Amino acid sequence: MQDFDVIIIGGGPIGIACGLEAKKQGVSFLIIEKGPIVNSLFNYPINMQFFSSSEKLEIDDIPFISKEAKPKRNEALEYYRRIVTSNQLNIHLFEKVMEVKKNNNSFSITTNKNQYTAKNIVVATGFYDLPNNLNVPGEDLPKVSHYYKDPHFYASQKLAVVGASNSAIDAALECYRKGAEVSLIIRGPEVGQRVKYWVRPDIINRINEGSIKAYYNASVEEITLAEILVKTPDGTVTLKNDFVLALTGYMPNFEFLEKLGIELSQDEKRLPNYNPDTMESNIGGLYLAGVICGGMETHKWFIENSRIHAPIIMKSIKDKRN
Ligand SMILES: Cc1cc2nc3c(=O)[nH]c(=O)nc-3n(C[C@H](O)[C@H](O)[C@H](O)COP(=O)(O)OP(=O)(O)OC[C@H]3O[C@@H](n4cnc5c(N)ncnc54)[C@H](O)[C@@H]3O)c2cc1C
Repeated sequence: MQDFDVIIIGGGPIGIACGLEAKKQGVSFLIIEKGPIVNSLFNYPINMQFFSSSEKLEIDDIPFISKEAKPKRNEALEYYRRIVTSNQLNIHLFEKVMEVKKNNNSFSITTNKNQYTAKNIVVATGFYDLPNNLNVPGEDLPKVSHYYKDPHFYASQKLAVVGASNSAIDAALECYRKGAEVSLIIRGPEVGQRVKYWVRPDIINRINEGSIKAYYNASVEEITLAEILVKTPDGTVTLKNDFVLALTGYMPNFEFLEKLGIELSQDEKRLPNYNPDTMESNIGGLYLAGVICGGMETHKWFIENSRIHAPIIMKSIKDKRN
């Protein structure tokens, strides 16, 4: 069985930053990633543009050169992939961590392919695997998706987009421009305030001119094969519908965290318990890194402000070893 100073669960930008920092500090490590390199980014919409400028997405001060100030998904894939390959980071791809058990001062890790031991664990599993469901009848129909990829798919179709944040607004605009008939179902009274500042006026203008029909203070009641029922302040509206994109956000895998023994706050935020000075959780030797630290507050942490977790964690691991 292979033994490491640290096993990093998740090969997203922050897991990779942790691996890179471990390598720099002479800490033996393995990153285990259940998909390809930066799996979440790989699954983002193909035309997605980050709200951060490229230097804010850099790890370990390695320059991230992009065509425009705000990079696109494919440029980010290029950047993080090159970091992994040119630094020959020790990463196992398409391998899923199933269980982590602590025995005295070490952890045993079981994946779908192998078993390992490690003195420390970093959990950097992000939040993109589990969507916030609408919990309405018809959500399980094949025409409903919580992930948006390519606008071409929706051309000449009646598309309902649920949500008011960046993902929903990007999808609504792109699909409208590729010939979809778009309805936007927004829970609150307006388009989200966190929508990218250069995109928000665009969607508001498209709504005001009637190109995209928006329903405010509205929610989905039911989805059927050919329709969607929308509850509005003026009563239920029935819309003809071919596809639904329910882009209402994502959440961390709390079940996985709880199985690891990580305490979560009892309120709706479900914040994991960790020491911000070291990023060590309530389980000694088990660290948290990246966007997972925000619990249900998935807008609190992003690459920009969580890349710092990597040096903090590796310093703590090194200090303990010395
Ligand atoms: C549409 C969108 C746009 C965004 N734009 C920006 C932006 O402009 N700027 C910014 O700073 N942030 C942005 N974010 C937020 C942030 O970029 C991402 O959430 C980022 O991917 C977080 O990095 P991470 O490494 O913490 O998590 P992730 O990138 O989600 O990585 C977690 C990894 O863990 C893997 N994993 C999960 N469970 C297991 C398991 N059991 N075993 C093995 N592997 C596992 C996953 O496959 C995944 O690759 C955006 C997020 C979204 C959804």
